Amino acid sequence: MQASLIIDLEDFPEEGRRLCGELDGALLDVDSEALQSTGPIAYELTAQLFDTELVLQGRLRAPFRLRCDRCLGMFDYTVETEPLALSYDTKGKTAVNATEDLREELILALPAYPKCELAGRECKINDILGDFRLDKDPRAGVDSATPSGNSVWDALDQLPEE
Ligand SMILES: [Zn+2]
Repeated sequence: MQASLIIDLEDFPEEGRRLCGELDGALLDVDSEALQSTGPIAYELTAQLFDTELVLQGRLRAPFRLRCDRCLGMFDYTVETEPLALSYDTKGKTAVNATEDLREELILALPAYPKCELAGRECKINDILGDFRLDKDPRAGVDSATPSGNSVWDALDQLPEE
């Protein structure tokens, strides 16, 4: 398993290079109670050299175990980045190390509010909320009753007309 992605700039082909492989998921260094990396980071990239600029384009994908924000249950989910584009100044360099940037792209692609639904499963909390709704007066909203039992609109009806 690769621990880094270093792109050698020596004899770089004009048509670019296709880079596919897997990086060790441990380099994400994200493991906590709410988030664990459960496998390698798969990358599919193309690298192109324009004069003194190296451009990397492609996608990353990695499996995680996430904790649902609502029910605190754990679920497995594969995070995939949007198509990414990274650019490097290559002046005076013989190689570019893209590892840290790729790590960052994947971290940014992690869901901000992990929910069971991401993994296509029903969240337990939704069931509980559903039960609450059944206990409530179905006529919620505009004709909510005031504590006195009157509709909130009654007070408006009593306003003097102009
Ligand atoms: Zn949940």
